[in-house]
Amino acid sequence: MKSLFRRWLPDLYVRKLSDIPLDALRKRGIKGFILDLDNTLVAWNGYQLSPDTVSWMQRVKNLGFQVYIVSNALPRRVRYFSEKLEVPGIHSARKPRRRGFREALKAMGLERSEVAVVGDQVFTDVWGGNRMGLFTILVIPLNKKEFLLTRLVRKIERWLLKKHWRKA
Ligand SMILES: [Mg+2]
Repeated sequence: MKSLFRRWLPDLYVRKLSDIPLDALRKRGIKGFILDLDNTLVAWNGYQLSPDTVSWMQRVKNLGFQVYIVSNALPRRVRYFSEKLEVPGIHSARKPRRRGFREALKAMGLERSEVAVVGDQVFTDVWGGNRMGLFTILVIPLNKKEFLLTRLVRKIERWLLKKHWRKA
């Protein structure tokens, strides 16, 4: 049973972006981040970037990490935040498909072992990242205002994590 669930389990589960242990990740060889957009960097369907997101992004860049947005959202939305945050982005990625992750890796010029994925959803971000063999980090979603389907998926996620995720 355990191996069946492993693909949906993150390597790390934190409350928010600023809880990500950047120094420890760097020591592990991580040089770049692939970031989810909705509910990871910005509240779902909102256009307001929080000061927390902006300052975290600045910190990550200042530390020399590469960053890339890989999102399932539509072009207009991804372009907007890509420009605001000055981070390149891939839209309509259809995570957990691997194409978007592959494109981002290629653009950053990094190996799989050098990149961590950060996202709020198990069945897109974590699953996709795990399929690629990337280090996966799950964050708590920025807001709860989501599609009905996503809310249902959340219930399953919570069950999964409660049952199968152990603190390292
Ligand atoms: Mg998301």
